[in-house]
Amino acid sequence: MTTRLAIIVPCYNEEEVLPETNRRLLQVLTRLQARAAITADSAIYYVDDGSRDRTWSLIADLARQDSRVHGIKLSRNRGHQAALMSGLLTVPGDALISIDADLQDDVDVIDRMVDEHAAGAEIVYGVRDSRQTDTVFKRNTALAYYGLMRKMGVDLIHNHADFRLMGRRAIEALRDYGETNMFLRGIVPLIGYRVATVRYDRAERFAGVSKYPLRKMLTFALEGITSFSVVPLRLITLLGVLISVASFAMIVFVVYVTLVLRAVVPGWASTVVPIYFLGGIQMLSMGVIGEYVAKIYLETKRRPRYLIEATV
Ligand code: UDP
Ligand code: MG
Repeated sequence: MTTRLAIIVPCYNEEEVLPETNRRLLQVLTRLQARAAITADSAIYYVDDGSRDRTWSLIADLARQDSRVHGIKLSRNRGHQAALMSGLLTVPGDALISIDADLQDDVDVIDRMVDEHAAGAEIVYGVRDSRQTDTVFKRNTALAYYGLMRKMGVDLIHNHADFRLMGRRAIEALRDYGETNMFLRGIVPLIGYRVATVRYDRAERFAGVSKYPLRKMLTFALEGITSFSVVPLRLITLLGVLISVASFAMIVFVVYVTLVLRAVVPGWASTVVPIYFLGGIQMLSMGVIGEYVAKIYLETKRRPRYLIEATV
């Protein structure tokens, strides 16, 4: 049985790259169709994540030019993950591939993904071999982040972003993960089934600028941690225990100095320093707890992850 393939491309203000991305993706489809690896109704789905530029009208044009091109327009900007989810949960196909619009991920790897799927893999991860083209800052923060996540018990595929193939069974499983705040990189490994990886070199953004400024990157990183790990909450408990033990030792010391040595305890330092210190620790701890409470608050509302405004 031949695979019906769907390629999902989230786009946020991507008018500069879109024509080239579309040209290359269509090439891939044509190539795969020529060797009968995928069906004739395999298609590309661009998800316009509330772009402010001409992205949507471009998508509509591209859809008119080729029947294998479709578009989904979200009602407003909801972020990369929500854009991906809207595609993954609504698009037909036996195998769904998600790929960024900026051509940083090698589109020619799609052939290998399809082959792995045909050979029985339910999920195929695209893993980048080198990140030479990313900035030193991005490379190192990403590395530190993956390490941190691993220490906190979150199972992430190293050097894998959101370039992956998911089979129909995996997609249906994904539907059952009900959280509103999706962090796909963390969720997908939880699904299981047979997995495979394909490796490729990450290229430079073809055109345009990164849609992930530092602020969005930090939010995304925090989202990943608080969605998957309770380790920060445990750390607070640990910190509390350590400080209690230290305070107890200090009390013993103060009593000893007062009763046995009968020396004058330098009062100011031993009073004021703990106040500031504990104040700081308490605020920090409350902040961490607050992050989780906020998460519960947002999740209990069960708001829709995305709203679709139009399709072509
Ligand atoms: N993107 C999106 N919504 C957003 C931000 C980004 O759909 O709010 C898309 C963007 O168009 C691109 C992908 O997510 O296809 C990855 O973004 P980008 O390449 O800017 O991120 P980077 O590679 O710099 O991490
Ligand atoms: Mg990119």
